[in-house]
Amino acid sequence: MKLGEIVLKGLNRSSFEQQLLTNVRYRLSRIGSFHVSIMQSTVYIRPTDAQAEERIGEAAEAMCLVYGVVVVCRAAECEKDMATILKLLPGYCKDALLGAETFKVLVRRSDKKFPFTSPEIAGEAGGVLLDAFPHLRVDLEKPDMTVYVEIRDHAAYIHAGRLAGAGGMPVGTGGKGLLMLSGGIDSPVAGHMLAKRGVRLTAVHFESPPYTSERARQKVLDLADAMSARCGRIQLFVVNAAPVMEALRDACQEDLFTLLLRRMMMRISCKIAAREGCECIITGESLGQVASQTMKSLAVTSAVCDRLLFRPLIGMDKEEIIQIARATDTFEISTRPFEDCCTVFTPKHPNTKPRLERLEAEEAKLDFEPLLDAAIEAAERIVVGGGNRAD
Ligand code: ATP
Ligand code: MG
Repeated sequence: MKLGEIVLKGLNRSSFEQQLLTNVRYRLSRIGSFHVSIMQSTVYIRPTDAQAEERIGEAAEAMCLVYGVVVVCRAAECEKDMATILKLLPGYCKDALLGAETFKVLVRRSDKKFPFTSPEIAGEAGGVLLDAFPHLRVDLEKPDMTVYVEIRDHAAYIHAGRLAGAGGMPVGTGGKGLLMLSGGIDSPVAGHMLAKRGVRLTAVHFESPPYTSERARQKVLDLADAMSARCGRIQLFVVNAAPVMEALRDACQEDLFTLLLRRMMMRISCKIAAREGCECIITGESLGQVASQTMKSLAVTSAVCDRLLFRPLIGMDKEEIIQIARATDTFEISTRPFEDCCTVFTPKHPNTKPRLERLEAEEAKLDFEPLLDAAIEAAERIVVGGGNRAD
């Protein structure tokens, strides 16, 4: 018998399960020593030493953030013996039941050889709990708390109170994507949305020292680190865009500067995506949000993208985006003051109806390919999220 288990309920398809296990193990390796196994579509996590036992609550919280997990339960595991189960029940369910007025016992008996039927187990268990907590009443329709007794093949489990998991698909089951990560509110949300569909993220951030500061870079590292709680390990490429920006500023018409820079950033991102095996590019753009996100502006940026381009926030209001940013713990970081390279040489009158031919004519004034290659060559590769397991 052992106390303090976590039971996760997730997906039931085998390759998804394997990826989920890898992701769960990776997250737990940052907390303590746990044994992780899977049976009947349920992931079992057992602390293997006293230190891990102590951090079981933290582990349960971390598991609620792992995509692919639907429900997290802390459970007591014990022998499949009626007397043992009944003895364990009041103590284990005490915290959950003291705050409740009504309860019911729900029995799942997947081991059909167990010598008592589900109604018999529920009756006995309910009786023991009513004796132990006289303030309680049974309510089968709408109880404040449901106590679960599960008789499985290998052991019995008791749990009361469940935590909601993040849902979605395990990261790594949906291919690889390159997230263009600025320091703003939108791009981390865009990243989370694709990660929740199983996409493993690699990120690229453009900085432009000395116009942007060390603080701005740190902010992006902190954002990526916060994202890794849900998205797993993230490889982040930090690209110095200053030489490209200076070349554009010196050679091209001012009103087109932002869009020309966007196209250069997109070209660099596509080259990195090709090298890193990322099948798509992800941005935090939302229609009409700023001058560079009109339909025409988005079209001229898409025109230089040679792979699938996802803009998951395209139809969302800022408020809706902020809600997700708060729920995924990036809002606080994103709202720290900072300067983004896109705001450095912002034109006084940005063009919102750009013609592709004009942009191409401006770009023809530059021999930009060597500049892009040099920027990629000099990019810094940073792994965010700790640990060193390839998950
Ligand atoms: P965000 O809150 O994500 O910064 P925004 O509303 O500020 O978005 P823009 O600055 O126009 O909008 O950026 C649009 C998208 O372009 C961003 O969501 C991001 O995907 C990408 N992007 C912008 N700046 C950078 C940057 N410095 N590095 C990487 N990607 C960037
Ligand atoms: Mg931005």
